[in-house]
Amino acid sequence: MADKVVQSPVRVRFAPSPTGSLHIGGARTAYFNWLFARKHQGVFVLRIDDTDKQRSTEDSYRQILESFRWLNIDWDEGPEIGGPYGPYRQSERQHIYRAQLERLIAEDKVYPCFCTQEELAAQREDAQKRGETPRYSGRCRHLSNDERRARIERGERPAYRIQSPTAGTTVVHDIIRGDVEFQNTELDDFIVWKADDTPTYHFASCVDDALMAITHVIRAEEHLSNTPRHVALFTALGFPVPLFAHVPMILAPDRSKLSKRHGATSVEEYRQQGILPEALVNYLLLLGFSPGDDKELLTRDEAVSVFDLERVARHAAVYDIKKLEWLNAHYLRHMSLDVLLDSIWPLLEARGWVHEAMTREQLTWVRTLAGAMQERSKSFEELVASLNCYFDRVRDFDIKGVRKHFSRQDVSTHLRTAADVLGDVHPFIVPRIEEVYRKLIHELGLKTGELIHPSRLALTGVTIGPGLFDVMALLGREVCQARLRETAGKIEAGAFALETTK
Ligand code: GLU
Repeated sequence: MADKVVQSPVRVRFAPSPTGSLHIGGARTAYFNWLFARKHQGVFVLRIDDTDKQRSTEDSYRQILESFRWLNIDWDEGPEIGGPYGPYRQSERQHIYRAQLERLIAEDKVYPCFCTQEELAAQREDAQKRGETPRYSGRCRHLSNDERRARIERGERPAYRIQSPTAGTTVVHDIIRGDVEFQNTELDDFIVWKADDTPTYHFASCVDDALMAITHVIRAEEHLSNTPRHVALFTALGFPVPLFAHVPMILAPDRSKLSKRHGATSVEEYRQQGILPEALVNYLLLLGFSPGDDKELLTRDEAVSVFDLERVARHAAVYDIKKLEWLNAHYLRHMSLDVLLDSIWPLLEARGWVHEAMTREQLTWVRTLAGAMQERSKSFEELVASLNCYFDRVRDFDIKGVRKHFSRQDVSTHLRTAADVLGDVHPFIVPRIEEVYRKLIHELGLKTGELIHPSRLALTGVTIGPGLFDVMALLGREVCQARLRETAGKIEAGAFALETTK
C-alpha cells in the first residue's frame, strides 16, 4: 500500500440505508472498509443512513446489524456501542444537520429556493427540448436578501441549494480509479435541504463524513457520479475532502445486474441456505480483489494482511456461486466438530433424529456420525441428508448401484453369509469387523469389491460414503445383520429385477 493514500489515523465508514436486508454488494463494501481499517489500525464506523423515513424500517435496521454480527464484521463506533462522534443513526442527528445548514446560510454558501415542483418540472422540460442536460436554472440564486426574508415571513417553505462552481473542473481522487475529472458545467445548484425541512442524502452524508472525521470514503461505484457534489459540499462546509474509493459492481454470470432471479443475494438468505459465515466472508474478498499467487482461501488475518485498496479491480466482479459453494465445503470440512454439531442440530431435530434428553452414548454416536460425514459434505443439508440411513430404514436404493452390484450371481448368498459372520465379531469395532470380513472375502474366493460394494449398498442404499467398516460399526451389529438379510431376501424375491434389467 502506497503511503500516499493512508492518512493517520484511518477512519472509514459503511453507511447502509435500512430499507431492506444486507445485500451481498453492501456486505462486500462493508468488508473492504473493515479490512482497510484493520490493516491500518484504523477505525471502522457503522452509520445508519435512515433519513428516508418512508423507506427505512426498524426491522431492516435490526437485520443489518444481525447480518454483520453473523459475518463477524465488528464495528468500532456505531449503533449499540456508540463512540465519540455519535449518535450514529442519521434520524437522531437532525439537529446537527440543521446547525450546519444555519452556518452555511450565514456564510452565504447556500440559498433558499422557492421554485415549486411544477416550476422545476417545466424548467426540466425546457432544457430537454433544447437538448440540454436538465439542471436547475439558478432562478432563485439571484433573489435579494430582502425578497428571501419577505417570502419566508409570508410562510413560504423553501428548499436550500448550494452554490456550485459553474466553470472549471472537479477532480475526484479515487484510490481505485485514479483521478476522475468532472466538468463543473455539469453540476448545478443542487438541493441540500428539502422544503419538508429534512436534509438530502448528499448533505447528511457529507456532514457526517466531515464531523465523524472520515478519511476514506469506500463505497459502491454507483456513487461515483455523486462525488463531485460531495467535493463541493466538503469545500463549502470547510472540511478536508476525504479520499475516495469506489468499488466495482457485482454482476450476474450473464453480466446482467445481479438480482433475485440469480438466487440468494442477501446475507440473510445465504445464512438460511447453510452457507457458513467464514465462507461468505472469504468469498466477499474475492469479489473484485485478487489476493495473488492464485490464492483463494484466506483466513481473516491473511485477508487483512494482503488487502490493498489500490489493487481492487476497476472492472465489475462476476458472481460465481460455484466458487462460494467450493469455499463453503472447505470451511465445513475444517470447522470444529462441536461447532458443526451445534450448527446441524436444528436440522437433525426437525427430522426427529435427535432430542434434548439424549444420553451421553447417543450424543457421542451422533457426534461420530457427523464427524464421519464432515469430510464428504459440501453443505449442512447434504451432510444431514447423508445421515438418513443411520436413523431410518433404507427405502430407496441407488439404481446404478443396484444394476452393478445386485445382479451378480450368488450375491444374495454372500450377503447372508456376511450377516452370519458378523455374529462372530466381538467387540463390534472397526478392526475386528474388517478382519472377519476380509477373511470371508478370501474364503469365498471373491475380489474385495465383490462383497464390499453390495454390502454397502444393502446397508446404506448408496454407493458412496465413509469406509464400509466404519459404516458397519456406526450402524451396529443387529442393524447390519437385519439389512444384509433383508436385502438378500429382496434380491431372491426378484424385487430389484426391474431395476437390473432396465
Ligand atoms: N446510504 C448510502 C447507500 O446505502 C450510502 C452511500 C455512501 O456510502 O455514501 O447507498
